[in-house]
Amino acid sequence: MAVDPLIELRDVNKYYGELHVLQDIDLTVGKGEVVVVIGPSGSGKSTLCRTINRLETIQSGEIRLDGQPLPDEGKGLARLRAEVGMVFQSFNLFAHKTVLQNVSLAQTKVRGRKKEEADKRSRELLERVGLSAHADKYPAQLSGGQQQRVAIARALAMDPKALLFDEPTSALDPEMITEVLEVMQQLARDGMTMVVVTHEMGFARSAANRVVFMAEGRIVEDRSPEDFFLNPESERAKDFLSKIL
Ligand code: ADP
Ligand code: MG
Repeated sequence: MAVDPLIELRDVNKYYGELHVLQDIDLTVGKGEVVVVIGPSGSGKSTLCRTINRLETIQSGEIRLDGQPLPDEGKGLARLRAEVGMVFQSFNLFAHKTVLQNVSLAQTKVRGRKKEEADKRSRELLERVGLSAHADKYPAQLSGGQQQRVAIARALAMDPKALLFDEPTSALDPEMITEVLEVMQQLARDGMTMVVVTHEMGFARSAANRVVFMAEGRIVEDRSPEDFFLNPESERAKDFLSKIL
C-alpha cells in the first residue's frame, strides 16, 4: 500500500557520549498509519520518540514532517513540534489546574486561541475520551486511567498531525489499561497517525499497520503485525517474543 509519508527518518544517528543509541534509523510513517514500536528495555524506543519530536538532537541524518525538514531550533521548530503530540508514561498534568484548564492551557498559549474557544474545544475532546463529567476536577481526584485520557485530550487539543505514545499504559493498574487502549483504538479508527511504544501486544495485533522491532539502537524488523507475530525473522525478535507472549 503506497501511503503519503508524514514522518520520515533517513539514516538517523544519535549518540549519548560513547553510546550509539540510534543507529542508521530509516523509518517512514504514512498518513493515517499506526506503527507500534517494541523491543527490549534500553533498545532506544523512547529516544526514537523524543528524536522524532526533536526533544533530542541528532548527530547525522534527516527527519522530515509532512515533507518539511525539521529545523534544529528556533520558531520553526516550536511550530513543527506542536504538530506532533506526545503522550508519556507519566501523565505530566498540572496538579493545581483543573482537567479543563489542563486541556485548554496550551491552546491559548501555543495556538493563540481565546479562552472561550479553547474551553469549547476542550469540552468536545473530554467528551471524546469519555471524561465530560470530570472537567472541573483536579488530576489527583482522577484515577490513573482517567489522567492518561486527559493527557490524550490535551495532546489532541493542539490539532496535531501525528501522536507519539511512549508506553502510555505502563504506569497503570491492569483494570485501567483497557480504557486507555480503547481511546487509542478509536483514534486509530478515526485516521490519526500514531507511533506507539507499548508492550500491549493485543493492541499491536488489532490496531497496528506495522510493527517495528528495535534492538540495541537499530530497527531489526519492520513488518505487518501478522508477519511479525507469526514469523519473526531475527533471533532477537524470536527471543523477545518468547519472553513476552
Ligand atoms: P527504551 O525506551 O527502549 O528502554 P531508551 O531510549 O530510554 O530505551 O534508552 C536507550 C539507551 O540510551 C539506554 O542505554 C539508556 O540508558 C540510554 N539513555 C537514555 N537517555 C539517556 C540520556 N539522557 N543520557 C545518556 N544515556 C541515555
Ligand atoms: Mg522507554
